[in-house]
Amino acid sequence: MSIPTKCDYLIIGAGIHGLSTAWHLCQKLANKGQLKENSVVVLEKSKVASGASGVACGIVRNNYYQPAMRHLMDHSVKIWNANAEALTYKPVGYMQINSQLMHEGMSEVYHQQKEIGFESDFIEGEADCNKYMKELLPDWQAQGITSVLHEKKTGYGANRGAIEGFHKFAVSAGAKIFEGVTVTSLNTSSGSQAIKSVETSEGTIECDQVVVAAGPWVRNFWEMLDLPKTIKIKKPDGTFSDDLKMWSYMALEEGELDVDPYSYKTAKGTEYPVIHVDTEATLISDKNGHVIHENEMWGFYYKPDIYRVGIQGGSSPYDVTKANEDVSLDPYGHDSNEFQPRESFEDKFTSALAFSQKQFVGCHTKYKKQKAGGIGCVTPDRFPVFDQYRENVYIIADANHGYKMAGIGDLVSDELLGGKSDILEPFRFSRYEQGKLHPVSKSPFPWS
Ligand SMILES: Cc1cc2nc3c(=O)[nH]c(=O)nc-3n(C[C@H](O)[C@H](O)[C@H](O)COP(=O)(O)OP(=O)(O)OC[C@H]3O[C@@H](n4cnc5c(N)ncnc54)[C@H](O)[C@@H]3O)c2cc1C
Repeated sequence: MSIPTKCDYLIIGAGIHGLSTAWHLCQKLANKGQLKENSVVVLEKSKVASGASGVACGIVRNNYYQPAMRHLMDHSVKIWNANAEALTYKPVGYMQINSQLMHEGMSEVYHQQKEIGFESDFIEGEADCNKYMKELLPDWQAQGITSVLHEKKTGYGANRGAIEGFHKFAVSAGAKIFEGVTVTSLNTSSGSQAIKSVETSEGTIECDQVVVAAGPWVRNFWEMLDLPKTIKIKKPDGTFSDDLKMWSYMALEEGELDVDPYSYKTAKGTEYPVIHVDTEATLISDKNGHVIHENEMWGFYYKPDIYRVGIQGGSSPYDVTKANEDVSLDPYGHDSNEFQPRESFEDKFTSALAFSQKQFVGCHTKYKKQKAGGIGCVTPDRFPVFDQYRENVYIIADANHGYKMAGIGDLVSDELLGGKSDILEPFRFSRYEQGKLHPVSKSPFPWS
């Protein structure tokens, strides 16, 4: 199928955000009686789900220290639950399990979840946490846990499976999706900054509105739009930071155990929730007894995963130190030879499992030796930017928080049709120069 020469909305990237935007936009245009043959076109340089969405761990949670992130996730969790089957979503619950350093922050998260009507339980005190965990997972053995936040409606989904679900929704709503078409440049019209057409590997397309939903490739489009490579952030005292790189990369280390996920049930007979532990307890290698972490916060997450056929999880990401323009994104994800979990990851992941549950002692023998993980592109404060540039280019830059954000497409499509979303407002680019930053948690993860 050849690409059209003209469309109304041209979306770049067939990951979760590009497809979800296409789906919701088509539905809204149809409701207004305005959906035409080539109203919404999605261009994908490779295949649907070949970017970050296709390698994501698939965890969906509301637990964020930042109120604006919680509002955003609350909206997205509703979309996951309303379309659970089509989007492969399993609302098994999500548990954030913490040592004392995280206690105060988690208590705030819980109380604010209550305020917005988000369903969760909060258990406090070492004895009560131990009891709660053992009632669910009798072999639970992590020491020093003083709070547990248990979300009831969150969970996980398949990475590619979920994106296939969004793909089907977008196509059946009327979007045209073209795979194997690379956008190479953006053309302006004379006397205007607006983009009038897009140059691709398969020809030129005129369009009224561009949506950049290119995941880790966002830096390429930022450059095409001549947007600033560095920015300054206004500090609370009114002065400005030094120049900060607009984009940088982080590598996510993830892995799996070769076990039957269906054999894992809680003592209540239910499926395991997603489990995330953040602690400063000493972590000793279950393999050779050496100290992996001591006197520092560390964290990890895991879930029996029916889509990966194993126990899947990961730990905190590390910074890619290369200048962002030198980071090669292709081949991406599991096909990359450069960004794979480091050798130390296997020991950390399997030792953290053994730290948490007795049955995982010695589980390093079941660690799958395979490619895993991927890199994500982050903003200076590591929170998303959703904003419009050059009059008609909307950029969705989720700062690698985005698999869980099933609802971005709904909110962005409202804005494309002339509305303003209160949920998206705290994520404008102008927050940097205005100093309207999100609060920072004590979590060892950059995105909590
Ligand atoms: C290993 C890993 C695990 C993760 N786990 C989680 C998790 O558990 N939960 C969570 O919430 N988030 C998670 N994330 C983050 C999440 O995956 C991303 O934030 C999200 O998938 C980004 O979606 P996207 O649609 O913006 O980008 P992508 O899914 O990357 O899609 C962008 C698409 O644009 C295409 N493209 C790029 N350039 C061009 C071009 N020039 N022309 C045409 N097409 C182009 C790419 O091929 C790609 O398919 C994880 C990320 C990684 C890397």
